[in-house]
Amino acid sequence: MAHTRGSRTRTAAKLTRPKYVLAKDPEDLAALADKGLARCKALVDKIAKAKGARTLANTLVPYEDVQRELYELLTQPKFLSDVHPDGGMRDAGDTAYQAAERFQTELNLNRALYDAFAALDMSGEDDETRYAVHKILRDFRLAGVDRDEATRARVRALRDEITAIGQEFDKNIREDERSIALDGLDALEGMPADYIAAPPRGPDGKIKITTSYPDAIPLIRYAKRAEVRKRLQREFLDRAYPKNIDVLRKLLEGRHELARVLGHAHHADYVTKDKMVGTARTAADFVRKVTKASEARAQKDYDLLLARKRQDDPRAKSLERWDTNYYAELVRAESYAFDAKKLRPYFEFSKILDGLLSITGKLFGVTYKEVKDAKSWHPSVLAYDVLERGTRIGRFYLDLHPRKDKYSHAAAAPLVPGIRGEQVPQAALMCNFPDPRGGHGPALMDFDEVETFFHEFGHLLHDMFSGRGKWTNNTMGGVEWDFIEAPSQMLEEWLRDPKVLRTFARHVDTGEPVPREVVEAMDRADAVARALEAHRQLVYATLSLRYYDRDPTGIDSTQVLWEVHAQYPLVPLFEGTHLQCNFGHLNGYSAIYYTYLWSLVIAKDLFGRFKAAGSIMDAKVARAYRKEVLEPGGARPAAESIRAFLGRDFTFDAFERWLNAAGS
Ligand SMILES: [Zn+2]
Repeated sequence: MAHTRGSRTRTAAKLTRPKYVLAKDPEDLAALADKGLARCKALVDKIAKAKGARTLANTLVPYEDVQRELYELLTQPKFLSDVHPDGGMRDAGDTAYQAAERFQTELNLNRALYDAFAALDMSGEDDETRYAVHKILRDFRLAGVDRDEATRARVRALRDEITAIGQEFDKNIREDERSIALDGLDALEGMPADYIAAPPRGPDGKIKITTSYPDAIPLIRYAKRAEVRKRLQREFLDRAYPKNIDVLRKLLEGRHELARVLGHAHHADYVTKDKMVGTARTAADFVRKVTKASEARAQKDYDLLLARKRQDDPRAKSLERWDTNYYAELVRAESYAFDAKKLRPYFEFSKILDGLLSITGKLFGVTYKEVKDAKSWHPSVLAYDVLERGTRIGRFYLDLHPRKDKYSHAAAAPLVPGIRGEQVPQAALMCNFPDPRGGHGPALMDFDEVETFFHEFGHLLHDMFSGRGKWTNNTMGGVEWDFIEAPSQMLEEWLRDPKVLRTFARHVDTGEPVPREVVEAMDRADAVARALEAHRQLVYATLSLRYYDRDPTGIDSTQVLWEVHAQYPLVPLFEGTHLQCNFGHLNGYSAIYYTYLWSLVIAKDLFGRFKAAGSIMDAKVARAYRKEVLEPGGARPAAESIRAFLGRDFTFDAFERWLNAAGS
């Protein structure tokens, strides 16, 4: 079929205006969102009224316009509610997002539309188009389009409720920044020099450590006094408590009812239907398999850290939640001659950004050009064009530093879908890294923060490179959710290579590259407490499945928290804290937190091909990876992309080798 959009492949894709993100004020955003939705509705009517046989031209092509508009109506207002400095805009973003979700629910329950797609003859179409239509039909069925009207009405109401409850859950976390006040610098014993030189202070001049990442992460990792770590850890693990106890219960109940109404045993089964795992049972089996693979090593990790704790406190009987990060760092420093603090002067924010751009540019054959005059939502935001042989193939925005009421974690957000020959993809990062203009001296980062930066940038690149298909639901948004962490987890590997790291990690004062022996020590030290960390991930994965794989009526979410911790008894629950209230993934990811470990298993396997090439900067492998894994995006099942790159299905082997590497 030559007359569909795909034939126009030679036209250069244009940069469109991310209009919702750039709305002038709340009224403007509301008006734009109304207009966008009205356009979608008109298009849907037009599809329904088309006369004669169903063709791509009278069905898929106009539906594609709906999908594009809707993509922006969902992603951009949601993004604004996370990052916009103005509360009115954040609220308007929430409202617009709710309306778009409502419309999407309506769309997926539109029987006439479903019948139209079901009547399409796809036999002569290319794979990409057939897969797009396959997914459209699947999504209709998953939404319940083939149910009776009463059921569909209940689904509509429930989805609407769930969206609002989820927004409240996120908002409570975002807006509950807590802090502890410290009497004097003594309390900061063990902290990095740059942190002590300019500690965060409150308006009264007292040292005030907040739960925001740049304050909290170093403190929990390095503060020598257990009491100080414990105090901050308590606040950190209790954000949004007690507010979110009730909100979480409502969220679980709403989702359970939705799953039941649609004929599934529970939400965990429902939400895994369109993932690589396919069922909640496969996800749970996977979690068990990782648990088994890591158990012996986790015990060794634990013994090692506890032994070190006993040097400080001979009567210590156990490791506590506020101990693990601290003692893992200490063992790394003492036994492996690796002190992560010593890396900080080499990890100045601007140098890291430059390094990240330079490495990924070389690997994937692109360059980045800063767009100085790009409009955005905050003066600190940077915008870049991604160029390939002089042609722009995407644009991204970097919103990288903390500020009041901003999203407090780190994430990549798609904004505009990329369509071959028509429009380039646009996306953004929202993170909370030290700010070079923050007035606290040089913006030195912790290794983990740099790792997070690489990780999130991996998502961004997936978005940039996958935006070259014909159909919106084949872009990154259409990739199976339990695959999307793999490319970002894999990009973290480039940070651990001495040769690569030395190209950009230069001392903030002397300009010297990070010493080779420090990186080598880091590599050895990196394996310390690896399985214990995997256990922490398993706690989260199990928790997320457990909350969603049963009837939650009358659930005591704290009781479940205890039960899950009892399954992973090495590091006990911090008594009296409620991490379920600030475990934001319970909204966004619901039952599928396992995806991080699932993707990690895949990432370790994919990375093996780079290792086998002898250099992780091997351009041939990198281009093959871009072509077979990143570019297809959601245009084919992830398992096929993996097979195309590896020449076989993925296995557990590389992950197990990594998990059990020396370091304990
Ligand atoms: Zn991620």
